[in-house]
Amino acid sequence: MAAHDAGGDNLPMAEMMAGMPEVWRRLLAAHVADRLGRCTTCRNSSGSGERWPCSLHQIAVDARRLYELRLGQSVGGE
Ligand SMILES: [Zn+2]
Repeated sequence: MAAHDAGGDNLPMAEMMAGMPEVWRRLLAAHVADRLGRCTTCRNSSGSGERWPCSLHQIAVDARRLYELRLGQSVGGE
């Protein structure tokens, strides 16, 4: 999807979260774009959201990818 501009800084967080599927599932469900392309959950005090995909959504996507990667590896049995 989007280019990796964070340089992989999110990975330790995503790796930790990959073992907690209920956490990233909740994040993916909560951090969605509104009709203006901003995150409906990441709001600051002025009421405008962070541009979506926000950092938390990206971490959750990475966590899901790592989780599915591990699932695939354990099923493959290599
Ligand atoms: Zn968000």
